[in-house]
Amino acid sequence: MSDDDEHFETRAIHAGQEPDEETGALMTPIYANSTYKQDAPGEHRGYEYSRTGNPTRTDLEANLASLEGGDYGRCFASGMAAINTVLNLLEAGDHVVAGNDVYGGTHRIFTQVYEEYDLEFDFVDTTDHDEVRDAMRESTELLWVETPTNPLMNVNDIGALADVAHDYDALCAVDNTFATPYLQRPLEFGADIVCHSLTKYLGGHSDLVAGALVTDDEDLDERLAFYQNSVGATPSPFDCFLVLRGTKSLGVRMDRHCENAQELAEWLDAHDHVEHVFYPGLESHPDHDLAAEQMDGFGGMLSFELDASLDEASDFVGETEVFTLAESLGGVESLIEQPAAMTHAAIPKEEREAAGLTDPLIRASIGIEHVDDLKADLQQAMDAVF
Ligand SMILES: *Cc1c(COP(=O)(O)O)cnc(C)c1O
Repeated sequence: MSDDDEHFETRAIHAGQEPDEETGALMTPIYANSTYKQDAPGEHRGYEYSRTGNPTRTDLEANLASLEGGDYGRCFASGMAAINTVLNLLEAGDHVVAGNDVYGGTHRIFTQVYEEYDLEFDFVDTTDHDEVRDAMRESTELLWVETPTNPLMNVNDIGALADVAHDYDALCAVDNTFATPYLQRPLEFGADIVCHSLTKYLGGHSDLVAGALVTDDEDLDERLAFYQNSVGATPSPFDCFLVLRGTKSLGVRMDRHCENAQELAEWLDAHDHVEHVFYPGLESHPDHDLAAEQMDGFGGMLSFELDASLDEASDFVGETEVFTLAESLGGVESLIEQPAAMTHAAIPKEEREAAGLTDPLIRASIGIEHVDDLKADLQQAMDAVF
């Protein structure tokens, strides 16, 4: 296990992992076991059954905890399974305040699964702290924060929101999927729980689905571990192995994601067929200063509004060749999508427009290909449509 005072890039490669004692094998093996030999009844060596604990998962959990600057990590079969586990902490009658532009799956599990279990949810503009305060109640147990948000890249002030939550004795959970711990570590700003879809940047290669929670509170971790084991939505050892492989290169990947996204954001911002670019790295972004303070880089996600109809925007995303038309994000390859027709199509048009999700809005996950090829691809798609 590496030292806490080592740099991020060093911990990304070493934290939670030691060469195998017996063979010297450098990489954590895929422990494909369901069960473990006990030395005597009830006397085991830390592992009894792989839903409860698996050595490949243990190494990943320690690695992620180190990267987020927390003491405890828990991994799950998906980001949604991780989010579900946070909700397992609550009881019927409890109230939750969340951002009004949270990930669609988060909105769905809140309103279509947990409202049925008598949890109550309010969705507010989390950039407006008065609005957040007004929504807090005696029964509020959780404030759910995402930053930057999807797809409009609003930036929320984690420290200020954690303070609001704590004033009401509520937990503050931050979904850190878009930023990654390389760029932003919510626990440093007072958040209680950090949540991840490992499917995105931490895995980094679009070849797995997994999730994680990190905290520095031992009691909280014990409760999360109880639900992790009781509900059983745990990741396979193979997927844990893949994420461990992904986190090793997180720093260099994120540097390139950020560099490419910044250059493309500036290029799009100056483009005739682009109405508006949403990227916190642009000085014109309303939350640019906050992002610069809270984050170590502005990330690889950007959105832009074409000067086009819904159909023209659909044609545009269909014409790209280096960018692949697909949902999801955070892999080494660039992806492009049209929220109104894809990720956010389930939101009624009027609600969508009111939230700023117009028909010609395009969201892109900027990969680590050569930026000139990405630029040329967007230009040829524009030439094909306009
Ligand atoms: C993808 C995503 C999730 C859900 O994660 P899965 O691994 O797909 O279950 C949650 N939050 C954000 C911000 C995401 O992008």
